[in-house]
Amino acid sequence: MLMLSELHEEIARCTRCELAKYRTKAVPGEGSENAEIMFIGEAPGWHEDQQGRPFVGPAGQFLEQLLASISLRREQVYIANVIKCRPTGNRDPLPGEILACRHWLERQIELICPRMIVTLGRYSMVMFFPGKIIGKIHGTAQKRDGIIYYAMYHPAAALHQQSLRRTIEEDMLKIPALLAEAKNITETDEQPRQLNMFEV
Ligand code: URA
Repeated sequence: MLMLSELHEEIARCTRCELAKYRTKAVPGEGSENAEIMFIGEAPGWHEDQQGRPFVGPAGQFLEQLLASISLRREQVYIANVIKCRPTGNRDPLPGEILACRHWLERQIELICPRMIVTLGRYSMVMFFPGKIIGKIHGTAQKRDGIIYYAMYHPAAALHQQSLRRTIEEDMLKIPALLAEAKNITETDEQPRQLNMFEV
């Protein structure tokens, strides 16, 4: 099996879709190979494209504050995006781009094997909670095959809509108890943890 650093190198060279032509840097993902929690955002923005690192702009600063509120640092978790290159002009990712990039997210999840996957925003939510609406399921979890999937609003939503800030902060505070439960599931479950991602 590939090492995470090798996977990151492959992603950095990816030409699976047109976004490769316009990127400054691909943004593979970042964090611990042994992370128990994986956070999955949408797509790199301007700052991420410049640095080749996920969540390093204003939304990333808020994500770091949220992590600190549950005594975590970004180095202790793994942070990735549904798509690894910045959509031009920060537009929404296109279905074909999501499909082309899906392979990388699947490899990342297989390698890291997290106990808990936290989706940040709609684009990652639909991969794990198909047919659901973020306004209804944020702050709720599903257990499947030894992994806890947990949906949250995207941190950038708080930057555009101040009223969501408290909701996002409260949803974050539920993570430690869920993670403890996820560890318990994994320890008592005979089934190996396996990827549970849906077609979108
Ligand atoms: N928004 C995202 O979804 N991902 C990033 O990496 C930055 C902002």
